[in-house]
Amino acid sequence: MISKQRKGLGPDYPAVCPDHIIEQAAAFTAPRGRLEMGGVLIGHVDENGANVTVTGFFPEQIEETPGYCMFDGKWMAIAAAACDYANSTVESKGPPIRVIGWIHTHPDIGIFLSGIDVKTFHELRNQCPERRFVAVVVDPLRNEHGVFNTERQPNRPHHSVPSIEMSDELAQRYDVFLDRMRTVQTLHGTTALPCILPGSFRYKRLIAGDRDDVGLSEKQGLFTIKKAQFDLKEEIRILGPKLQTDLKKAMSKISLDVQDQKNTGKHLEIQINNQKKRIQDLENLVNQVNAENAKLTSILDNLNGKITQIQRLLEDTDSSNTKRFDTVRESNADVIKRLDDHELMVRRRFAKMEETSEKILAQRTIIRSRHGTRMRLRRRR
Ligand SMILES: [Zn+2]
Repeated sequence: MISKQRKGLGPDYPAVCPDHIIEQAAAFTAPRGRLEMGGVLIGHVDENGANVTVTGFFPEQIEETPGYCMFDGKWMAIAAAACDYANSTVESKGPPIRVIGWIHTHPDIGIFLSGIDVKTFHELRNQCPERRFVAVVVDPLRNEHGVFNTERQPNRPHHSVPSIEMSDELAQRYDVFLDRMRTVQTLHGTTALPCILPGSFRYKRLIAGDRDDVGLSEKQGLFTIKKAQFDLKEEIRILGPKLQTDLKKAMSKISLDVQDQKNTGKHLEIQINNQKKRIQDLENLVNQVNAENAKLTSILDNLNGKITQIQRLLEDTDSSNTKRFDTVRESNADVIKRLDDHELMVRRRFAKMEETSEKILAQRTIIRSRHGTRMRLRRRR
């Protein structure tokens, strides 16, 4: 399947990469830890038009850091020359083998194409016939991988495939290529060419007596792990007694702290009990005060009752006094009237008396003149 052609860039072709390449690349680079590593992939175009990856190699890195790696561009030319040699050595009707891709590691950072990766991938594709070139990224620490058939989808990798089929003639071409690269390694040393990835030819070549860079690296990795284990044991042996002493000290401090906590707890408990007792005492006091209040209230109620009674009595007395006063006033008025009447009567009597007196005085004159008569009169009485 060939995807739609982009303007000026050419189409993207499907990429096929077998598990062997991924596994061998991961096994070789894992002991390097977080240092990145880049290499070249060799393959061919199959009958479906797919870019098939079959073998590869990791040359010496000019620069290698956690996040960046670079190798000399001459290795692309060396690889291309080795391919030409194999193609010309083995007569075949099948496709020629060629430089088909670029492999690099992303230790513990996951699978994607960074900005630099995209740029590199683009430039490398432009240098290849038909822009047939794949990019493979391997994370040996997370055991992840990705196969990219285009730089335009830096976050959409494909997976590797379990195996690939090829004709015996084509297989022979790869064999010749691998021999050629082994010769280069022998000539320039394993520092210049540390690893050849034989892909699916690994065991066949091992049996034939070929050097196994991947296996050696794995062994080295194992030795490194064993060494690290030994160093750790030594460290533990030296540090052990000190750690024990420290631990004992820490434990005794913890135990003291716990004792302190316990004592503090007891102290708090005593304080709480004291507070409880105080509260109980206060409650008792409040109850007493309430009882006394009740008593006082009842006394006050009694007093109020008595005051009401007295008030009523006072009111009654007041009204009876008023009545008495009215009676006295009435009786006084009667007396005054009688006195007035009496006075009037007395005055009348007095006036009558005066009148009588005058009459008498007038009669006395008569009597004086009529002496004898007077006597007579007296006797009559
Ligand atoms: Zn990268």
